[in-house]
Amino acid sequence: MTELSLRGLTKRFGTFTAVDDVTLDIPDGSFVCLLGPSGCGKTTLLRLLAGLETQSAGRLVVGGQDQTDVPPDKRDFGMVFQSLALFPHLTVAENVAYPLAIRGRPKAERRRRADELLALVQLDGMGDRRIHQLSGGQRQRVAIARGLAIDPSVFLLDEPLSALDANLREHMQVELRQLQQRLGVTTVVVTHDQKEALTMADIVIVMNKGRVQQVGAPMEVYRDPANAFVAGFIGTSNLLPCALHDDAVDVMGHKIALAPEDRVKCATGDDAVLSVRPEDVRLTDAETGLPARVTFIRDLGDSVQVMLDFDGQDVTALFAPGARPDVAQGDTVGLEFASGNRVVLPA
Ligand code: ATP
Repeated sequence: MTELSLRGLTKRFGTFTAVDDVTLDIPDGSFVCLLGPSGCGKTTLLRLLAGLETQSAGRLVVGGQDQTDVPPDKRDFGMVFQSLALFPHLTVAENVAYPLAIRGRPKAERRRRADELLALVQLDGMGDRRIHQLSGGQRQRVAIARGLAIDPSVFLLDEPLSALDANLREHMQVELRQLQQRLGVTTVVVTHDQKEALTMADIVIVMNKGRVQQVGAPMEVYRDPANAFVAGFIGTSNLLPCALHDDAVDVMGHKIALAPEDRVKCATGDDAVLSVRPEDVRLTDAETGLPARVTFIRDLGDSVQVMLDFDGQDVTALFAPGARPDVAQGDTVGLEFASGNRVVLPA
């Protein structure tokens, strides 16, 4: 069993705290995405897990064993770095088997394992090539195969797909996820791409400024964000300043009654924001809904985006192509926010 328990993990560089008191549990066999904006501490946290950074405080327990002070080469973790760090002077097979070579494993075993792993990542027969004879996606697969060479109990990847173009990247996201499902290895991937995290993860860990903001299943984090940072970072959200009263919010002088299913994460009287996803914005006539003006309409192929001005606040609404509302730029319309899907968060 290789569940990970992080207990108060902290990393300071001088007076700057890059990872701040992180406590969480990662279940055995799960696929976890560490997600957050640039500089929030994702890579530092991953390096703490790998043992490549020494923590300033806290403990790391792996499968019930305290590994806080175990050096990186004594942890049976596989790692894929953002730069890939493949060796140009070695063949593809030698690259893949490199972790076995430095552990002194016999040549025949290395070759067998390399062939096995290359088949796993669909590079059969490419073992004798050099790295420069591979495409970007193939190099990515070599790095993934090498990370798996020692049959690790935990697989750590730092932005493994960031160098790929959008199409290949989406393809590799699915492939990496399927591979992990087949192997069942506990996997932690750093990404700053929320769509990537939502595609691959069982569990998303959202970080900001070194601190964990929320841990949960992707849809849970999307539907039920813990705070305005998470709501704004995961997917798109309309965040409207409001005041919370007992059973209603006041948005720009307009009272909106709350339903029991709407989620309220702050106290009455607090300055708050009302978070509404674009797909939960409905358009009606100006007399019925909150009055707003259509400022732009964008056809995105698989959806139609309508941008609106609501008393100086930008609001985005999203529709399936078949549900395109009959409105034009400049029209005055009424806004409604789908009852039950609204979240009131601390400002
Ligand atoms: P990105 O998405 O840009 O890679 P990140 O979330 O992975 O960012 P980290 O690389 O973990 O962020 O860095 C977190 C913070 O710690 C940054 O402000 C960074 O400048 C700082 N930091 C990282 N490593 C060091 C170091 N060795 N010395 C000093 N500061 C560091």
